[in-house]
Amino acid sequence: MAQKNYRRCISCRTMAHRDQLWRIVRTHRDRHVQLDTGMGRSAYLCPQESCLRAAQRKNRLGRVLSAQIPLDIYKVLESRLT
Ligand SMILES: [Zn+2]
Repeated sequence: MAQKNYRRCISCRTMAHRDQLWRIVRTHRDRHVQLDTGMGRSAYLCPQESCLRAAQRKNRLGRVLSAQIPLDIYKVLESRLT
């Protein structure tokens, strides 16, 4: 079973394969917050508006990553919504 490739959305708590989720990373090296790639603490989100909004509201994403989330991160994710 490929359970190890499953992650939980920080907003709705649903489990999904990591390929199905957005990944937000706070890198170990310089604590930079970036999307998709990099080594560091990661948070996962369903690629949908409700989960994005919930992550931004109350700074849930920032608390999960223990980092300040640049507004650009939210803007890029918003632009990926179809
Ligand atoms: Zn979700």
